[in-house]
Amino acid sequence: MKKISNYINGKLVAPKEGQYIDNYNPATGKVYSLIPNSTKSDVDDAIQAAKEAFNSWADLRNTERADWLEKISQGIENRMEELALAESTDNGKPLWLARSVDIPRAKDNFKFYSTAIRHYSSESHQTAEGVINYTLRKPVGVAACISPWNLPLYLFTWKIAPALAAGNTVVAKPSEITPMTAYLLSEICVEIGLPAGVLNIVHGLGHSAGNALISSDDIDLVSFTGGTATGAHIAKIVAPKFKKMSLELGGKNPNIIFDDCDFDKMLKTTLNSSFANQGQICLCGSRILIQRGIYQKFKEAFVEKVKKMKVGNPLNEDSRLGAIVSKPHYEKILSYIEIAKEEGGKILAGGHAVHLDGEQSEGWYIAPTIIEGLDQQCRTNQEEIFGPVVTIQPFDTEEEAITLANSTEYGLAATIWTSDLSRAHRLGNEVESGIIWINCWLLRDLRTPFGGVKNSGVGREGGWEALNFFTEPKNVCIKY
Ligand code: NAD
Repeated sequence: MKKISNYINGKLVAPKEGQYIDNYNPATGKVYSLIPNSTKSDVDDAIQAAKEAFNSWADLRNTERADWLEKISQGIENRMEELALAESTDNGKPLWLARSVDIPRAKDNFKFYSTAIRHYSSESHQTAEGVINYTLRKPVGVAACISPWNLPLYLFTWKIAPALAAGNTVVAKPSEITPMTAYLLSEICVEIGLPAGVLNIVHGLGHSAGNALISSDDIDLVSFTGGTATGAHIAKIVAPKFKKMSLELGGKNPNIIFDDCDFDKMLKTTLNSSFANQGQICLCGSRILIQRGIYQKFKEAFVEKVKKMKVGNPLNEDSRLGAIVSKPHYEKILSYIEIAKEEGGKILAGGHAVHLDGEQSEGWYIAPTIIEGLDQQCRTNQEEIFGPVVTIQPFDTEEEAITLANSTEYGLAATIWTSDLSRAHRLGNEVESGIIWINCWLLRDLRTPFGGVKNSGVGREGGWEALNFFTEPKNVCIKY
């Protein structure tokens, strides 16, 4: 069975205590590889390597670091198909999705920051005649980057690329549930000869390897994407040490549909925004709010289309949905469907596991599920399920839509469908959310600020926001 390694100080190494964790293929429910169960000692080695590499990496010109990032991007491009297959096998997502979205985006993350850092600049302020202020932007130090399982290489590289571009060295921990493409990334770094210690990748569990990383006094900042409870735990440890933190956390996103929208475009996109990646994208709209005038029409059309969405082997081109990432997560989603029923929800589509034949018979599959008849305050509409489960609720007025949209503890993303330009702007302003999509969904521009408000997180990724986060500003005032 394939055993993957940590990547520490430029080398692929086994965990010091020789312990490994089973890695499952969600499509078959079977263990297919082993990953290091790293301990504090492995993490400390990685941090030490990153500390030692820091000065020479930070001292490189921006253009030299940019060249390294381009080489990594090229390395990903060269192994695109292998990475896509690895991502699909590890995560359960359709291979076509990994091939068209996840891996190209990981390549683009390095490409984007290799160019962004060439153009990055700092400010200077003329205060008075003979007085000038200028701001230096220095790399912070050793960056701890921790990512989740839903978009494994895509989100892992979204942190690593700007951290390295800005001159930090990195210790990164991918999710233990989807470690394979992070491992392949470390192979790419070895192949291209990235200087030792600049990037270190340590595999292992959150409460051991992850916790050792964020608890270390020798890291200088934390960039984390994952669940809100984990984010709160990390903040408790990191905040009293006054280290920089960026926390990208959970969501319960509204998808607000007005009578006057372009119905066909909305319906097509809503199928995606509800169920892409089995509903396991932090930006998916899991609460669909529909103005009463088109509620019935929407419900009938949506249910009909969702019932036809094929759940199948992720390797098949015609599978619209693949497998759920892990058995615990699969059980969690099914338990939420039971909660919805207990709360009085009516299942309009799905609502059950899907059992495939042959090699996939032990895999974890759930039918795309639509639930109706629940009020906004119930658990189903308040808690993040993070699976192929949406609720639909009618509303009458714009004010009611805004109240419903804002009545959760989260505020990551919201989608609004209307052809009334003024209303679109009003809602864009009123809905409490870090990201608003109007008449579209997941149309990404890597220059834009990305992140949430309320319990969806602190800080922003993307564009200059990330480069600002990964640098420390220092103001110099000079009188001449
Ligand atoms: P998670 O919080 O369980 O794990 C995320 C990462 O944190 C993993 O690498 C894990 O090993 C690590 N971790 C766990 N405990 C830790 C600890 N004590 N110390 C340090 N590290 C620890 O989240 P998950 O289940 O992997 O991901 C799903 C969640 O991520 C959902 O809530 C989803 O909304 C969120 N998410 C948010 C965004 C965003 O941009 N806001 C993007 C994707 C996913």
